[in-house]
Amino acid sequence: MRTVSISLVVLTLAAAVQTLIFLTTGSVALLADLIHNFGDGLTAIPLGIAFFLRSVRGERWAGLAVVGAIFISAMVALYETILRFIHPQHLTHLWVLAGAGLVGFIGNEIAARVRLRGGKRLDSPALIADGNHARVDGFVSLGVIGSAIVVGLGAPIADPIIGLVITVVILKITWDSWKTIYGQHDH
Ligand SMILES: [Zn+2]
Repeated sequence: MRTVSISLVVLTLAAAVQTLIFLTTGSVALLADLIHNFGDGLTAIPLGIAFFLRSVRGERWAGLAVVGAIFISAMVALYETILRFIHPQHLTHLWVLAGAGLVGFIGNEIAARVRLRGGKRLDSPALIADGNHARVDGFVSLGVIGSAIVVGLGAPIADPIIGLVITVVILKITWDSWKTIYGQHDH
């Protein structure tokens, strides 16, 4: 449980910093990335309910609420990204934007290490899977740095393209969480 809490605090902090930077830069790639990071943080809530309240029913309801929240966030990211394709916007503060991608990468990498170490110690496949997820997410955050670089090189279209790719990643997680709640594992 401590492992889960530590990685949760790190990810939430990273997402909070990214939110501040999003307000400065207006990058939709960053918007999608921070929605993704907040969404991943939310997925820990049903686990906490199951652990502290020992309530399977509570866990399922919380799980449904979380999947709903992540799905709605994904739709917001999708909407903003499509708007940006229609009305391209000039991005500013590209160095700060790249910094936001770095914050996301470092936050996820720390969460990955904490979870993988805990998972190996407790021999928990679920925690190891979470760790691997966070490690992949670190690379998703690097996409924000990629956006800053390519926009800086003179192709502003890179930002909504990367935003769209990250939105697809969020939808995939929503789908996976939905399947987990209903116990329909296909692996
Ligand atoms: Zn993720």
